[in-house]
Amino acid sequence: MKDGHGRTIDYLRISLTDRCNYRCIYCMPEEGVQSMCHTDILRIEEIAHVVRVFSNLGIKSVRLTGGEPLVRKGVVDLVRDINDMPGIKNISLTTNGVLLPRMADQLRQAGLSRVNISLDTLDAEQFHAITRRGYLQEALDGIDAALAAGFDPVKINAVAVRQLHQDYLAFAKLSIDRPLHVRFIEYMPVGESSGANGCGWGPDDVISCEELFEIINRQARAEGLPELVPASKHQPLGWGPARYFEFSGAKGTVGFISPMSRHFCGECNRMRLTADGKLRPCLFSDREYDIRGILRSGKPEEQIDRDLADAFRTAIGAKPDDHDDITGTERRMSQIGG
Ligand code: SAM
Ligand code: SF4
Repeated sequence: MKDGHGRTIDYLRISLTDRCNYRCIYCMPEEGVQSMCHTDILRIEEIAHVVRVFSNLGIKSVRLTGGEPLVRKGVVDLVRDINDMPGIKNISLTTNGVLLPRMADQLRQAGLSRVNISLDTLDAEQFHAITRRGYLQEALDGIDAALAAGFDPVKINAVAVRQLHQDYLAFAKLSIDRPLHVRFIEYMPVGESSGANGCGWGPDDVISCEELFEIINRQARAEGLPELVPASKHQPLGWGPARYFEFSGAKGTVGFISPMSRHFCGECNRMRLTADGKLRPCLFSDREYDIRGILRSGKPEEQIDRDLADAFRTAIGAKPDDHDDITGTERRMSQIGG
């Protein structure tokens, strides 16, 4: 299905929960997080219902995210249900990785195609400081579990925040010996207009991907490593908005996602479903369409399906062409589903 700007919309990101076992400084406040009430959150079968209807309207790829999607009970069953839908070609997951050692095999068997693991530093102390509750080894074990379960590609997402002074080259080097696709993401002001994310986003904290690329190459030269060159044979599936590079001879790639410095709105193919059942045409716009109300309207199922389809078409019609004027959102990333 095409939106009003000629873009094909075939990708749905679903936040399974706003809850999380971490409290990353750029995503959630340390204390006093107001979680959504259980009854407000879509049930697993409601999510499957929505995906079934949307897949008939052109959604081919689904990403499960959150909050931390793996803390949501029923996630494996949901993957299995979605995998059985003929229109869905792939199901992916964005996770902090903590629960992967326990769940990677089941998820793979249920039909999950790809995994993105979020990891912002390889320094154990800094990892604990960023996540406020996590330990580096958990994330590293999660990566091992994803590779051992046979996921391909396995992507590592790192948010670059200037004040954190992360070691970018150390990250990029993760792509050399194992088939890992490391992606740097520019820090975004999500949740900031309400002051809700509690980490004081400021424009000075954003490191553009261009600057990151320069830093990595400068550090690589200093270590006698080759510079990054555009990726050739290693382009990972689910290419998306990242631009990919590689160290010559490396097993994986290094990608750059630049929502702040180089908008990729012209290529945007996605819709978002929040954990409380709101359909969101754009990450950076607080415009939302109520899906939960339709699901719980008590109408006959055929009418609910028609109403869901109408809401989907209306939301697609409302997708903005760019996010130039948007500087923050009311909802946090963990509520929208990053
Ligand atoms: N809990 C899971 C995880 O961390 O991967 C899934 C949800 S999390 C909200 C999804 C992604 O959003 C993570 O990669 C996280 O680093 C990223 N993220 C959160 N807040 C962000 C921000 N302000 N700017 C850029 N990325 C952000
Ligand atoms: Fe949780 Fe992911 Fe947000 Fe970190 S980025 S607090 S792991 S939802």
